[in-house]
Amino acid sequence: MNMISIIAPCYNEEAALPIFYKEATKVLSSMEADYELIFVNDGSRDGTLDELRRLAAGDAHVKYISFSRNFGKEAAMYAGFCNAKGDYAAVMDCDMQDPPSLLPEMYAILKRGEYDSVATRRENRAGEPPIRSWFAHRFYHLINRISDAQMMDGARDFRLMCRSMVDAIVAMGEYNRFSKGIFGWIGFRTYWLSYENTPRVAGETKWHFWGLVRYAIDGIINFSQVPLSVASLFGILMTGVSFLMLVAIIARKLLVADSSIDGWASIICAIIFVGGIQLFCLGIMGQYIAKIYMEAKHRPHYIVAESNIRLK
Ligand code: UDP
Ligand code: MG
Repeated sequence: MNMISIIAPCYNEEAALPIFYKEATKVLSSMEADYELIFVNDGSRDGTLDELRRLAAGDAHVKYISFSRNFGKEAAMYAGFCNAKGDYAAVMDCDMQDPPSLLPEMYAILKRGEYDSVATRRENRAGEPPIRSWFAHRFYHLINRISDAQMMDGARDFRLMCRSMVDAIVAMGEYNRFSKGIFGWIGFRTYWLSYENTPRVAGETKWHFWGLVRYAIDGIINFSQVPLSVASLFGILMTGVSFLMLVAIIARKLLVADSSIDGWASIICAIIFVGGIQLFCLGIMGQYIAKIYMEAKHRPHYIVAESNIRLK
């Protein structure tokens, strides 16, 4: 019998966990497949770990990996992928925003063999501040133009995938992880399932506006080199402009009798403008160097403090 691994990152989810566990167990046990629930406690400061110990004591399907501190959802998902034993695996938030009731349909689609993964996307962004939706749309539009990893607008991390896809994700061992990009970059045949956005059952979201802006910038830096070319483009443009100005100044000197130039303001403007562009380009380069720096250290993605399974 096939086995499905459910990977659920949890950060301060003591209230949502029992609800998710109950619902997921109900759905999974009704399916014609064996399953494991891998909960990754991402350094929660509430009773999440106690809750996980309690669930694991009462059910052999429950496995947990508990980090020594908060390493972020990306690290938690990676820990789950590295330790998933299933023929199929899915990442799910444990706040019920990724409804377990979709699993049977997703599994049935994969079993047909035409697709390697079934991914989910929100039908709309109802309930979200319009400004956030606007930025999100712009982000997807931009990233799909400047990156070879295609990313679907409104896609969630919730997707059920086959073993070869999981292996490909595990093989992408980069330190700076951006799962939406990784899923797109590795390819495979993906079926998109849309569903109505559901609010969180308990607890609160860990995402705030600036966190999302940071996340979007990370996505661009991790999956595109186009920003680096921006620096060269500016360089070429400025060289062109300065050449034209040179020609203009020489022509004026030769052709106009009184050619003394009183250009204090324009010189200051030009200096500030060019200085600004230089700093901007240096900043872009700095972003890439910072990523290289972290990548070169080869630090572990996460540190496990406790688990009820033997870890890979
Ligand atoms: N999460 C995590 N580590 C973090 C932040 C979030 O493991 O540092 C988990 C969280 O417990 C949840 C999932 O990632 O299961 C998605 O988080 P959240 O619901 O806050 O995001 P949203 O659904 O609002 O995008
Ligand atoms: Mg959520």
